[in-house]
This record gives sequence, structure tokens and C-alpha cells, in this order.
Amino acid sequence: MLDRLFSQQEELQFENWTVKVRRRAFRRKLSIYLKDSQFIYVNANRTLSSKQILIFLEQKRTWIIKGLKNLEIIESQIPQVNFVEGELIPVNGSPCSLKLAPTVLRKSFGSLIENQLALHFPIKKYQAGLCPRDIKEGLQIYYRTQHERELQTKARAWEAKIGVRAAQFKLRNQKSRWGSCNRRRVISLNYRLWGAPEFVRDYILIHELCHIQHMNHSPKFWDLVESHCPNYQAAEQWLNDHGRSLDFLI
Ligand SMILES: [Zn+2]
Repeated sequence: MLDRLFSQQEELQFENWTVKVRRRAFRRKLSIYLKDSQFIYVNANRTLSSKQILIFLEQKRTWIIKGLKNLEIIESQIPQVNFVEGELIPVNGSPCSLKLAPTVLRKSFGSLIENQLALHFPIKKYQAGLCPRDIKEGLQIYYRTQHERELQTKARAWEAKIGVRAAQFKLRNQKSRWGSCNRRRVISLNYRLWGAPEFVRDYILIHELCHIQHMNHSPKFWDLVESHCPNYQAAEQWLNDHGRSLDFLI
């Protein structure tokens, strides 16, 4: 909520790139984020002028160009998913071949047998012919259901280990976040993580639960995360290297 009240977004032009500037009243310094090859993202204090921001970008020019080029390479390697039978879909960290099947039940569901993911659709819908949008929706339902099921068995255990208690868990399909925790202890997790290996989902869950204790990314916060998730850096690395490959379900 604080974020929304005190921030506003503006755009600048730096050579051929659009710079998205997010201003926050309490931000002390300027920082650049590269998360896709389309834009340069800057967080800045409200008092900083556009000119000062552009001077800063100019100083970091080499780093920015290198970063954007790397992102372009990563983006070009993202598999294209067309939502058709026989395609490979990431499930729990492994590519699984997609099969479509009818069911007498009223709702669609998925079932995984070895490396084949069967999506079952109500028979009438199946016979009428499935379009890519139906298949995408079926996959979203499957991811969400599976993630929910896993969370039910894991959330309480991790809460007990860390010594915190979330008020609520929400599974969502956020565009650019894997998880979040607000001051009311509501934790949102991205159900696209069902495509990632289990240790990555564990890390995101632990990360957000640790925010109940520390609402920041201070050294104390990271110590707590590491004490419960010693391989958290490997999970971060996985998300950096492969996280975009789950974008097909946005
Ligand atoms: Zn965090």
C-alpha cells in the first residue's frame, strides 16, 4: 500500500531505450534494474532530476548494454509454447509432453504419468475442439491446483520451523514476481512456479515466510533465509537462468 501511495511512474529516453522511472519518497539512492531487453528500469528518489538520472545512466552505459544484450540472448532461448498436443511443457522442473483427453467430469484437470501430462476436458468441450486458449487455461488450472496441494502439506511445516504464521496464502499468476508478503502477513506465491523444480518453490516459500520476521532484505533477513534454505543461491540462479521459460503461462 505504501508503495502505491508514494510512487509514480514516468518514462525517459536514453538513446534507443525507454527508461521506466519509479520514484519513491524514501528511497535514498538511485538504482538500475534490468529484467527484460525492452526497458531500463530505474528506482529513484523523488527529488532527483531527469538530467541527473540520464547522467547516471551514461556513466553505466557499458554495463547497461552488456546486460541488455545478455537478456536478449536469454529471451531468444525461451521456448515458444503454442498450446498444442505433443508439445513439451515444464512441470515440476522437467519437460513433459502434453496430451489432451476427454473426461465425464464437469471441470478440467490434469494428470501426470511419468513424463506425460494429460489435460482432461469436459467431453462436450473436448469434442467441439480445443483452442490454444482452452489449453492454456487448462494448464493454468493444473499448475494452480498442484501448487495449492503442495502448499497445503508444506506451509504449516515451514511456518513451524521458522516460527512465524502467515495470515493467508494466495496463489496468483503475477507477471514479474515469484512471491510477496505484505504487512498483514498475506503471502502471495506465483503458481507458475509449478514449472520449476521443487527446491525453487521451497526457497520462494521460505523467503516470503522470513519476511514476516523481517520486512526487508537486511543481512538478518538473509541469515534467516540461509539457515532454513542453505542452497537459496542455487534457487535464485535457477530463476535467473530459467524463470522466463515459465512466462508462457502469463
Ligand atoms: Zn523479499
